[in-house]
Amino acid sequence: MIVRPAPRRGQFEDEFWAWVQQQDLRLQSCTDCGRFRYPPGPTCPRCLSERASWKSLSGMGRLLSWAVFRRSYFDSMPLPYVVAAIETAEGPIMVGNLMEPTESLRVDAPMQVYYELSRTTSGDDLTICQWKLSEDVG
Ligand SMILES: [Zn+2]
Repeated sequence: MIVRPAPRRGQFEDEFWAWVQQQDLRLQSCTDCGRFRYPPGPTCPRCLSERASWKSLSGMGRLLSWAVFRRSYFDSMPLPYVVAAIETAEGPIMVGNLMEPTESLRVDAPMQVYYELSRTTSGDDLTICQWKLSEDVG
């Protein structure tokens, strides 16, 4: 089981993580105008509505960019590791850790989410969403 730093938790992040535990990638979405709010928050940046629901994403996206970290910021993350920006098929851009070899990465590569059971540095089991190159597309 991989060990990862415990994620930031709070009023809005807790719901995101509760859905991820069910292997369902959901983002907060404005009930009034439909815009996704990511990161989640109390009001819609477009229409200022405070109403929101959590909508499932397809789990598909494309690779926008990535960086290889060669300096350690977390003891639990073996070096080097890759942090990438993935544009989801629904539009919001998510940032995540990639386990792919960097030589297989290219801009616009189709990506898909998967779920992995991890242990946080606080000792809790936590399912996390990760991204990988999609085998079904492109
Ligand atoms: Zn709105």
